[in-house]
This record gives sequence, C-alpha cells and structure tokens, in this order.
Amino acid sequence: MKVWPADWNERKRGKDCPICVDGRPEEFQFGIRIYSTAHTDAYLQRHGAVRGYAVVIWRGRHVAEPMELSDAEAVGYWRDLLRVAGAIEQHYLPMKVNLEMLGNTIPHLHTHVRPRHRDDPAPYGPLAHAADLPAFPDEQLRADVEALRKLLAS
Ligand SMILES: [Zn+2]
Repeated sequence: MKVWPADWNERKRGKDCPICVDGRPEEFQFGIRIYSTAHTDAYLQRHGAVRGYAVVIWRGRHVAEPMELSDAEAVGYWRDLLRVAGAIEQHYLPMKVNLEMLGNTIPHLHTHVRPRHRDDPAPYGPLAHAADLPAFPDEQLRADVEALRKLLAS
C-alpha cells in the first residue's frame, strides 16, 4: 500500500525539490521546452498516453500550491497556462483539453495539459497517470515542438 512520505511537509516546502534543482533546461529527460516566460516553462512531453501532452511549470521561488502565489503571480501563471493550452488545442484539434494540477508526487506547482482525442484510452473520463508510458516518435515530437513554438511566438 502506498503512503505519503514521512517528510511530505518538508517536501511541500521545497526540500530536495527536483524541479528547483533542475533549473530551467531547454530539454530534459521528460520533455522539450516549447514556451518560456518569467513565470513559467512549458515542455512537450517525450512520453504520454496522448499525443500533445505538455507540462507547464511554475518558475520562481518554490511553491507547492497555486494558493501560495501572489495575485500578480497567479495572473502570470494562469495566462501562460492558457496560452500553452490554447496552442495545443489549435495544433492538435482535440475534442477536449484537460488541465490537471495534481502535484501528488512532486509538490512543486505545475499543470498537466492533456488534449483528449476521440480514440484516446479513457473516453468520457480522466486519463490515468501511468508510470511507464510509451515514448512518442522523436521525429514527430520535434516537428510538434517546432509547430507549437511558432504558434506560441505569434
Ligand atoms: Zn520546487
């Protein structure tokens, strides 16, 4: 049975936070950056249940919950998130876009952006967050990165 880590409260406050430690890379094991502002970085994910899966990460001091943001920070985060989600909607033409703020594994504010397609694995409900998801073909992924960067730059 899974349990919350004993040091969960410390992790929420930033102890050993892998997102803070990683800095702001252009690419890392999970994704390739498609958008960057003073408030966020957005990464198209290398692995996922649905094509077009991206994660928008809060950049700034370590924050676990969106309620910890100032009003100005919250506006910046939300605006960037909607911009990225809008570009994903425009590029992939999904039936629905899911914005998921979970943070149950890494408690640093981030949002999963998952376009939902007619043939995806969980129609009419939420997608599971499975651990070992298949990798997208690199050529397709890089073409999507370029297209999304162009949309987000305009
Ligand atoms: Zn952090």
